[in-house]
Amino acid sequence: MSKGASAREFGEVLMLAREQSGDSSLVDIVDQDGRATIVIGSLGHSIDPGVFENLPGVESVEGADLYKLARSEKGLNGKYPAGRIVEIPFAGARIGSEQFVVMAGPCAVEDEATLFEIARRAKAAGAKILRGGAFKPRTSPYCFQGLGEQGLELLSKVRDQVGIGVVTEAMEPSLVKAVSEVADIIQVGSRNMQNFPLLRAVGKQPKPVLLKRGMSATLEEWLAAAEYILAEGNPNVILCERGIRTFSRHSRHTLDLGVVPALKERSSLPVIVDPSHATGRSSRVPAMARAAIAAGADGLIVEIHTNPSVALSDGFQMLSLDEFDSLMGELGSIGSVIGKTI
Ligand code: PEP
Ligand code: MN
Repeated sequence: MSKGASAREFGEVLMLAREQSGDSSLVDIVDQDGRATIVIGSLGHSIDPGVFENLPGVESVEGADLYKLARSEKGLNGKYPAGRIVEIPFAGARIGSEQFVVMAGPCAVEDEATLFEIARRAKAAGAKILRGGAFKPRTSPYCFQGLGEQGLELLSKVRDQVGIGVVTEAMEPSLVKAVSEVADIIQVGSRNMQNFPLLRAVGKQPKPVLLKRGMSATLEEWLAAAEYILAEGNPNVILCERGIRTFSRHSRHTLDLGVVPALKERSSLPVIVDPSHATGRSSRVPAMARAAIAAGADGLIVEIHTNPSVALSDGFQMLSLDEFDSLMGELGSIGSVIGKTI
């Protein structure tokens, strides 16, 4: 509490603290150099520090450090410092800077000719990173599972010959080494956001990690998952909002764009948006991509294909290469208004 807090302000914060805790024996008042600090404990649930942030008499709020490395500290002037920038020198990408970094490519690596054509067109349109899974987490074991090692070889070849960065998924700790030898960014998929052995494994190697939000993860759980990677010594984590499960049935998932500014307040990590898996329909991808850049995201990961109708996975949500060209033009226009370059 600030030194000048009135008794009434103090009482109100204390009441809210007890309510949020759910157990008043876990709320304590500590005197620190003549300044009262209210310490709030909770068992079995987390408390959002934001609840207290703007109350009269409150000077500052510190959350329990479930994610102290992922958290953004307020600087001495009370402002949040600029976020962390994840650099991918090979691709000329600086994620978290004024550059809006677009990652585009097929859902899965399918064959060499298709991958090369997509990569060339993606790069020409301004994408810095080619996406494409070699190992695919599919809901059913009967669906195409990806080309595996052969897919990694194709990604490596296209990376060298086209000169575009690569992001691809590692599904288990034993595959991290092979993936990190090829990828500029290792993707941890939504279904693996809380695969703690995998998080630790990608934290122990040097390549940046794209951590997709679990489809039922809260912001706190997501940042705590990022913390596993950071705590192992890898500072280069990029968060990716890809839609969550809600009651809403009109699209594959519900894109939670509101999480972008919420993350910017709580964390220094860059955040990008995946409008493809979020909407599940190509017709809706451009609108959500435009909204993402306007909402302050640091980049985009979007599925594109030479011929979406014959894609081996997620064809219905992929943009054609021409549609991707138009989208990049639109993003450029919005970017110029809000100070982002593509
Ligand atoms: C993907 O990006 O290839 C993917 C499978 O997405 P998600 O993990 O978000 O479902
Ligand atoms: Mn996909």
